[in-house]
Amino acid sequence: MNAIVRTAALTAVFFGLLLCGNARAQDTQHAALRDYVAEQLPSIVEVYKHLHTNPELSGTEGNTAKRLAAELRAAGFEVTEAVGGTGIVAVLKNGDGPTVLVRSDMDALPISEDTGADYASSVRVPGSSGTEVGVMHACGHDIHMSNLIGTARALSKFKDQWVGTVVLVGQPAEEIAAGAKAMLADGLYERFPRPHYCLALHVDAGLPAGEVGFIEGAFNAAVNSVDIVVYGVGGHGAYPHNTIDPVVTAAQIVLALQTIVSRETDPTDAAVVTVGVIKGGSKRNVIPDEVRLELTVRTRKPEVRARVLTSIQRIAEHTARAAGVPEDKLPKVEVLADQQTPVTYNDPSLVQRSVGAMRSALGNQNVVGREATMGGEDFGFYGEVDPAIPVFMYRLGSVSPVDWARFVQGGEALPGLHSAKYLPDPERTIRTGVVSMTSAVMELLKPK
Ligand SMILES: [Zn+2]
Ligand SMILES: [Zn+2]
Repeated sequence: MNAIVRTAALTAVFFGLLLCGNARAQDTQHAALRDYVAEQLPSIVEVYKHLHTNPELSGTEGNTAKRLAAELRAAGFEVTEAVGGTGIVAVLKNGDGPTVLVRSDMDALPISEDTGADYASSVRVPGSSGTEVGVMHACGHDIHMSNLIGTARALSKFKDQWVGTVVLVGQPAEEIAAGAKAMLADGLYERFPRPHYCLALHVDAGLPAGEVGFIEGAFNAAVNSVDIVVYGVGGHGAYPHNTIDPVVTAAQIVLALQTIVSRETDPTDAAVVTVGVIKGGSKRNVIPDEVRLELTVRTRKPEVRARVLTSIQRIAEHTARAAGVPEDKLPKVEVLADQQTPVTYNDPSLVQRSVGAMRSALGNQNVVGREATMGGEDFGFYGEVDPAIPVFMYRLGSVSPVDWARFVQGGEALPGLHSAKYLPDPERTIRTGVVSMTSAVMELLKPK
């Protein structure tokens, strides 16, 4: 063996051992993390059940925020309350390194819980029509908060294994797409360390607890809310010839809108136009003066979004013209500026780094690729306000083995998010959430 070959062989062996040593060190770290999370789990699940039993609607998360703040303080974080409403920001500085932000939402939904759990919510609040409505954590934000608490504890515990700053965010009002904007407007990126990376997770009602799912690129859809008021000339139902009937015009608009996705949008681009509300009229024999339509529009590309919104305006106006509506009574089409969210774009290299750490912490088989959805989420704002900040939101499986078996073997439909029957498996879901999130944060803050 000549000298060059021998040196090359020795170098290969050296790096081989080094890599092996690193992998072994990481395995030991992850085993310690899993043990610590297992030990903390009963007390985190207790907090989870408390949060689940005591849900609060968007913008009114006062008690929830107080409890979350107390837990994060107890974990060694410096906590600031009332950021952008009821939002909280918890910071842990641990030497010179990058800053990682982890966000959880805090709000619940106006749904009467029907899970039968012994910790089910019985909270009721006055509804819009004078009756009471139930309040329920039907979107898993209680799991997200419990995950944040567990992650805070684990990062404090293993402080000697990372350097940098961790910013944990308890965000209000996700369900009305107001909380992220409010916190950013209240100086989230100026008053607190500006993040180099933002992470978040969302429970997945179609993935077994114990697994996480990831997507590179678009995670979900951009959301726009559009209102259309269709005007006519009202009158007696028996004399339609003396009127311009806005009910018929509105019906034609609803049908014509369907062609935006089916005929005007490139079939390889994702888009949804849903008319969720039609309101008009007061009595069967009266033709009303106006009908109101409320739409949700979902897209993934800015150019598709612009085109769909323009088409809605064009179709509404010209359908009304075809019905003989005069120029001064054409429909009013309003894109609601305060009810839109951008697409959450998962930065591919951030995804790969985080997923690599999750695979080694959870096992390859428990980290799976998922498809993007047309759902909405205001986490997209964290990256949209500064495109230099990469973001990554992943899915956290939440279905118990019993429910999963019923689904796989019995073909039973699983209750989805926002269902009165949605009940995650607390232990498995939170354990997997804390281990995956902590390992991702520690990977991003790995000492050089
Ligand atoms: Zn939701
Ligand atoms: Zn949600």
